[in-house]
Amino acid sequence: MTASATPGAAPRIDRRYPASRLVKDRAVFELARVDGKKRLLVETPDGRTPDGLETETSQGGACPAVCPLTPANSAWMRRAFPHLAPTANPGRSNSIGLGDRLGKAASGHLQALAGLPVFPVLAQQSMRELRLTGRTYEEVLAAATWAVLETGWKDGFGADGDHLKTGEELDYALGCGFTMITLDCSDHIDKALATLPDAEIHARYLLLPAPEREDLEARYLAGGEPRLAELGVSMDRPGFERRVLTYRGAIAHSVDMYATRIAKSDRKLDFEVSIDETATVTSPADHVFVALELLRRGVRPMSIAPRFCGEFQKGVDYRGDLAQFQVEFAAHAAIARRLGYRVSVHSGSDKFLVFPIVGKEAPEGFHLKTAGTHWLEALRVLSAHEPAMFREILRVALASLPDARNFYHISGVAENVAPEASLADAQLPGLLDQDDARQILHITYGHVLRTAEPDGGTLGDRLHAALDRLEPEYAAGIARHLKRHTDGLGLRRGA
Ligand SMILES: [Zn+2]
Repeated sequence: MTASATPGAAPRIDRRYPASRLVKDRAVFELARVDGKKRLLVETPDGRTPDGLETETSQGGACPAVCPLTPANSAWMRRAFPHLAPTANPGRSNSIGLGDRLGKAASGHLQALAGLPVFPVLAQQSMRELRLTGRTYEEVLAAATWAVLETGWKDGFGADGDHLKTGEELDYALGCGFTMITLDCSDHIDKALATLPDAEIHARYLLLPAPEREDLEARYLAGGEPRLAELGVSMDRPGFERRVLTYRGAIAHSVDMYATRIAKSDRKLDFEVSIDETATVTSPADHVFVALELLRRGVRPMSIAPRFCGEFQKGVDYRGDLAQFQVEFAAHAAIARRLGYRVSVHSGSDKFLVFPIVGKEAPEGFHLKTAGTHWLEALRVLSAHEPAMFREILRVALASLPDARNFYHISGVAENVAPEASLADAQLPGLLDQDDARQILHITYGHVLRTAEPDGGTLGDRLHAALDRLEPEYAAGIARHLKRHTDGLGLRRGA
């Protein structure tokens, strides 16, 4: 070592990530695990770290600078290497959203998706998930950036501000560089309408401004909209009035957010309109009405997320009438195809029964969102390698279940989970294959991560440290589980 301000020992490198190596202006960048922590190593011919990168060590001539994986450093890398920055979908027909609540799953995701005809949306997180995990969008995007660097992925990726509701939330995600916005319209859909009788709906409909009613009736009841027949739907008056009342607020909100944010952006963005969190199933006629009204008012969605029949509960397979789902999904997919966007499937983790239908009926036009299942795969790794910690996690999950139910709806109940004390260590991974345990572990992640420890840290800190030690096992678990999804969807290499 020469010319170092504070000469020290060369950093102890525990693991290298050779696929991460990049060179720019004779500076060499590479990820490594240094003294147990993942870091960016930067080596330059003159020993000077490029301006703007934060470093932890002063650099000696023969030693690389060690840079922490901060959001600021990830932003620096995205500026230096554009392939590390998210983009809108460049035109691949299918996409898959991959939420990563711990910021550790994306390299496994990319391993699983290598060579498949699907565009990955790596940084997908909702405000609810940000709050429950205590993360920021800057951190979510940084985690995706480092995973793309680590794996040497060059095929592009997206970043989804998921289930955003307000202009402020959109501004936050867009300001951080997110490239996809999923607008959650549920606050603009009156759930009470679903239970009102037709007479009450009619009375409320008559309170709408007359010009609005006349315009819509001319289009949808009097034959003014020729695409209704082409799209295979017809509308009677009671259904029409209910539809207008149910969706007019969601349509207006989407038009407003699109006009004031998406259309004004200087970047290409993917805009998804989600009407999935409503009290009633979205019928094909509802879908057509929403889509035609959005298109007429200038909105160009990348995707629309209807609420499908049956139940898409967290962490478990589809529950419902699969034959009916097949018929209705085919109708939704055909509508989306005709009108020029994709159909989006939310809560798509572990829906192995529906994947073949999605792949068959929307072969060139689906977006599938997955998230919590990747957290469950982390727990599966811990159950096998850190049984004592997994038992603690399970106890916290069961204790916090009543509170977690305020954030998520599941049907799983604690009584159906075998008492942890009665299970041998070797039986613990089996809990990750039991629906009730899966659902309970799925929705209590925020409580688990935040649980305070006597030393001032959290259970989350220990969980992160354990997963760092088990990094190859976690990546392999993620890749194996995601492959079951992509196989089910019929995604094939070289297709
Ligand atoms: Zn949703």
